[in-house]
Amino acid sequence: MIYKHRQQPSELPLLRCLHTRMNLSAEDKKYYFNLEKGFEGELRFDLFAKELTCECLILHDLLLTSNNTTFQIDSLMITAETIFIYEVKNFSGDYYYESEKFFNMRGTEILNPLHQVSRTASLLRSLLFKQGFNLPVDCKVIFINEHFTLYQAPVNDTLIHPTQLKTYFHKLNTLPFLLTKRHHLLAEKLLELQLDASPVKPKLPSYQYDQLEKGISCAKCHSFSVFVDGRKCVCNNCTHEEIVESAVVRAAKEFKLLFPKEKMSTGIVHDWCSIVRSKKRIKYILDKNFNAAGKNRWLYYE
Ligand SMILES: [Zn+2]
Repeated sequence: MIYKHRQQPSELPLLRCLHTRMNLSAEDKKYYFNLEKGFEGELRFDLFAKELTCECLILHDLLLTSNNTTFQIDSLMITAETIFIYEVKNFSGDYYYESEKFFNMRGTEILNPLHQVSRTASLLRSLLFKQGFNLPVDCKVIFINEHFTLYQAPVNDTLIHPTQLKTYFHKLNTLPFLLTKRHHLLAEKLLELQLDASPVKPKLPSYQYDQLEKGISCAKCHSFSVFVDGRKCVCNNCTHEEIVESAVVRAAKEFKLLFPKEKMSTGIVHDWCSIVRSKKRIKYILDKNFNAAGKNRWLYYE
């Protein structure tokens, strides 16, 4: 049973908008792509977890503190006899293992996920001990991407390779034991201890209105080659069609996300969407979909 669902990383929607509307620096782009890829991998893992039929409580994406250290767990699963923690890696392509280190094929060393997950496990053990729970903690690194290969992989049952995923989950389903009230108490406690936000704020790119591409991006391929044809917005790139109203609402929400402090007036949204010629049409859509505040010339939407 899923006890806590996963939320997308809070900065992801904003980075997605910025990526379509401006040229991100190489560093920001890398950060954005890694975030997107990591989240995609976690969602893939969640699909496997959702199908589990054994008695268990699953908590996705936990942020906790132990010994003055904040740590994050991709997924935690409480079963009758063991707590499993999962570090999900969405690596694709070829990697190799040598002298207890992980490298990509260019020879660049990457953070050893085995060290990462064992550190997380020890922090969690200490936290549970303080809270009076003494279930054993087992940790796994899940390589979720089927296009991942690790050459010279160590024989280590902490690593679950893509070809082992189905068998691993199948084995979990054969766990015979039942959960008690105490297991539910533990899940409740972990939720209670969960931090709302990381003390380390993500470093987001700086941007200004004038720097950003205006228009409505295609909902499917994100291209700006979109034109208005009657009631529809049509993409020149992939032929995807969307009702003008829904496209304008989507673009207006993007504006709100990027500029939360700005008052969103008809004029601004008209300029922001750029491809809808009539201001009246924009006003009609905003009136219908947002709450108006202010008066006359100072009317804006929330
Ligand atoms: Zn398109």
